[in-house]
Amino acid sequence: MDNCIFCKIAAGQIPSKKIYEDEDLIAFHDINPAAPVHFLIIPRQHVATLADCGAQHVELLGKMLALAPRLAAEQGCGYGLDAEGQPTGGFKTLINTGPDGGQEVYHLHMHVIGGPHPWRVRF
Ligand code: ADP
Repeated sequence: MDNCIFCKIAAGQIPSKKIYEDEDLIAFHDINPAAPVHFLIIPRQHVATLADCGAQHVELLGKMLALAPRLAAEQGCGYGLDAEGQPTGGFKTLINTGPDGGQEVYHLHMHVIGGPHPWRVRF
């Protein structure tokens, strides 16, 4: 898509702080982080919203979800169990869809948000 900022990031036409890329996906730090760790996972191909996804996107969506915990761990907010077996760490994943979902950039993206509290993201 000609006028899509995330397509331009995917194409390397706009700079980003990239933390991952493969043939299908790119991940980069959010320019306006809501927490100590805040990055976005996007598909290279232009899909405007989650609501535009169909059966042909199931594998892509699965890859996005599966990548989140791996990159979160690399960025220092991985989930695990402590020495007593208690849950520790962790992160939030979020996909905003459409105006009522708070979507501002119309290229599918998953927020991954984490890091030590306090930080405030209600959902
Ligand atoms: P919202 O701004 O309500 O979270 P979205 O879910 O559409 O809406 O999220 C778009 C995200 O993209 C925002 O968190 C914003 O900070 C981020 N963003 C916009 N432009 C860039 C950019 N050039 N590089 C990195 N992140 C960006």
